[in-house]
Amino acid sequence: MMYMSKELLADINVLRGRLWGDVITPHDNDWDEVRKSFNLLIDQHPTAIVYAESPEDVQATIRFAKRAGLRVAPQGTTHNSGPLGPLRDTILLRTTRMKGVTIDTERRVARAQAGAVWGDVTPLLEGTGLAALHGSSPTVGIVGYSLGGGLGWQARKHGMQANSVTAVEIVDPHGELLRATADQNADLFWALRGGGGNFGVVTAIEFKLHRTPVVYAGAMFWPVEHAAKVFERWSEMLPQLPDEFTSTARVLAFPPLDEVPEFLRGRKMTVVNGAVLGDSELGERLLAPLRELEPEIDTFEEVDPSALARLHMDPEDPMPYLTGHMLLDELPADGLTGLIEAATAEDSPLVVFELRHMGGALHRAAPHHGARATMAGDLLLFLVGGVMEPGDEVAVNEAIEGVLEAAAPWRSATSYINFIEEPAAADEFFDPRTLDRLRQVKSEYDPQNLIKANHELV
Ligand SMILES: Cc1cc2nc3c(=O)[nH]c(=O)nc-3n(C[C@H](O)[C@H](O)[C@H](O)COP(=O)(O)OP(=O)(O)OC[C@H]3O[C@@H](n4cnc5c(N)ncnc54)[C@H](O)[C@@H]3O)c2cc1C
Repeated sequence: MMYMSKELLADINVLRGRLWGDVITPHDNDWDEVRKSFNLLIDQHPTAIVYAESPEDVQATIRFAKRAGLRVAPQGTTHNSGPLGPLRDTILLRTTRMKGVTIDTERRVARAQAGAVWGDVTPLLEGTGLAALHGSSPTVGIVGYSLGGGLGWQARKHGMQANSVTAVEIVDPHGELLRATADQNADLFWALRGGGGNFGVVTAIEFKLHRTPVVYAGAMFWPVEHAAKVFERWSEMLPQLPDEFTSTARVLAFPPLDEVPEFLRGRKMTVVNGAVLGDSELGERLLAPLRELEPEIDTFEEVDPSALARLHMDPEDPMPYLTGHMLLDELPADGLTGLIEAATAEDSPLVVFELRHMGGALHRAAPHHGARATMAGDLLLFLVGGVMEPGDEVAVNEAIEGVLEAAAPWRSATSYINFIEEPAAADEFFDPRTLDRLRQVKSEYDPQNLIKANHELV
């Protein structure tokens, strides 16, 4: 355990006295509990952890860190803490206690404090005919998701959540509370919508809600042996699909746990999930080619859009895992076959092999968009392997690298920042012009590099 100097501890005690929230240090009994991450493989060792309860707490923490020569790493759910590294001389500033959400159905705008997760918003929208551009899990933080881009079930129709953000409230590295909108601090507003958490500590975010009266959504399941023909049919359908349909095709290994429904428990399955923004008539027509393949289970039906929050069946409790990701410009039939073979090999330790359909609005830039204006590629590849025993790491890593290598010939020029869970160079995420502009905004707002994001711009 790393202990701190008497002087720093004394200063931290002064900070403690100034905050509504809490400061926890390696000297506190609950230290090992609070420094845990959603991914249990990640070992965070910051100087101290602050639980802020208000923008004033954030301001006091930033001013303190500046005086003490420490950096500040804002953090919500810890869902993407892997790239942060050891966090030496850094205060981890958790926003999890700032969870207020308000919905204005008239103006079709939501406002969420920095600690709110998508699961705090979706129940409030039930029955309103409005939907937010959330992603696959209700446990993901709205702010972290939106700052990176935010890819959800309406992505092909409405693009990324970042481009539906209308205002961001942020404490800058001088401790000032700013508002960034299209008209106020417009350069910062541009950078925050895709450039990640590099520019300050966001305290609240406002974003558009989209009229979505009904969706036809669900999942079809086949035994894993059907993977080749299901993926082939799905990929043949993609070029004809309207922007109203966003879908994923996956091979999932369900663990033999009681919380998994009995019909899936301990089985490896081929799954197509999706959401059609429309009624059952449209949905049935679009899904007919997949239905011909007679899924073992088919849950597609007309539902309220709030049901999309758990459509992807993501795990909600912390676990140890490794991931892999790549955007693919295209994937011809022989390439797809190679990937499916790697993903369905009997000894593969992967629990998720996933292709998400991109395109539609994700390929259309608009002048009002932020730094993440579009998403490259036709398909997004995502892989997960559980590391239940320390030795598993090697085999999982090999399996991930094997699939990524097989997909490499079709790799897009950039990757998606929210899906990279290990340290990566900034030019992996942004084209040179966007990266230059992001770096200019960073040097203007944070010349001393006080703020530490998971993915930095260096
Ligand atoms: C189960 C699961 C499902 C997911 N599904 C999707 C999906 O469908 N679509 C998608 O696009 N992404 C998805 N993601 C990825 C997710 O969007 C990223 O992991 C995102 O970074 C999570 O943000 P967070 O705030 O929850 O996590 P954190 O780890 O708390 O934050 C990640 C980073 O965001 C920044 N940040 C967070 N809060 C603040 C703040 N208040 N001020 C400034 N910076 C801040 C920081 O740089 C921080 O390091 C998923 C992740 C998981 C684990």
